[in-house]
Amino acid sequence: MRAMILRAPQHALDSADLPSPQPGPGQVLLQVRACAVCRTDLHVIDGELPKPKLPLIPGHEIVGVVTQRGPGAERFQIRERVGVPWLGWTCGICEYCREGRENLCAQARFTGYTLDGGYAEYATADERFCFRIPGSYSDAEAAPLLCAGLIGYRSCRRTGDPKRLGIYGFGAAAHIVVQVARFHGREVYAFTRRGDLQGQQFARTLGAVWAGDSATLPPEQLDAAIIFAPAGELVPVALRAVRKGGIVVCGGIHMSDIPSFPYDLLWEERSVCSIANLTRRDGEEFFALAPRVPIRTTVQTFPLIEANKALNHLRTGKIQGAAVLVP
Ligand SMILES: [Zn+2]
Ligand SMILES: [Zn+2]
Repeated sequence: MRAMILRAPQHALDSADLPSPQPGPGQVLLQVRACAVCRTDLHVIDGELPKPKLPLIPGHEIVGVVTQRGPGAERFQIRERVGVPWLGWTCGICEYCREGRENLCAQARFTGYTLDGGYAEYATADERFCFRIPGSYSDAEAAPLLCAGLIGYRSCRRTGDPKRLGIYGFGAAAHIVVQVARFHGREVYAFTRRGDLQGQQFARTLGAVWAGDSATLPPEQLDAAIIFAPAGELVPVALRAVRKGGIVVCGGIHMSDIPSFPYDLLWEERSVCSIANLTRRDGEEFFALAPRVPIRTTVQTFPLIEANKALNHLRTGKIQGAAVLVP
């Protein structure tokens, strides 16, 4: 199996007769060693995100080895291991790019969404948007760092300097964030789907001081909360759990509608914001931090041919940590 291809909304199929991708100017061709499966892949496959490239190879947490360099690509050596994240290309000239906020670039292209991704044996990437992967991680362990880790890190930084941090939705991003937060001396309160005792136990083993159902209030008021679950009804729930002046950060790319709620929940300088994409600077900072913590990822690997099975397990909450495809 060469790649999993998304043809039209809600219809995925396998293909064995694709042409080999060729690296263009400034691009590298990678032999994919591992590609993590992200909730965003489900949103793309389910047609919840507008205008994907079609046909499309999903996957934006790619660890690969450089096998060919396109014209002018000299940042990495042949056989060097690199990581490819969600942010695949930016224009460099729009107001956001010039302000150092390339995550908001008006022309940005995204791996596994508007560019082909890593559910494949080979992938191409613009070398300027790739990262060097610390040597202490295996290919499969490193893959979830490229989105779950990076977006988690950016979300975590946005919360400021909380003593008590709540995390709603204890999946791939949360299991990394809890380690970063503890490294920074924060108390983590983990919220899972109702009755997910296994997930709550997993959160405690990673160092959460408390874990429970998202419907329940934590034993202490929180200074900040991050919502990774794509459930809009968690916004008022999290606002209720944070103290005056607290912040609720929405870390996902898609969320169901947020129900209306009384202004009292926002009053007293509470705030709600979202985190969109990543910058290359986030990546450089995060990959310098990861081995210092050191962040350990929990992964469940699947052969590439079982991409749909991995996606289904993610959908039904059967994955502890992150699912990773290994060609
Ligand atoms: Zn731009
Ligand atoms: Zn992702």
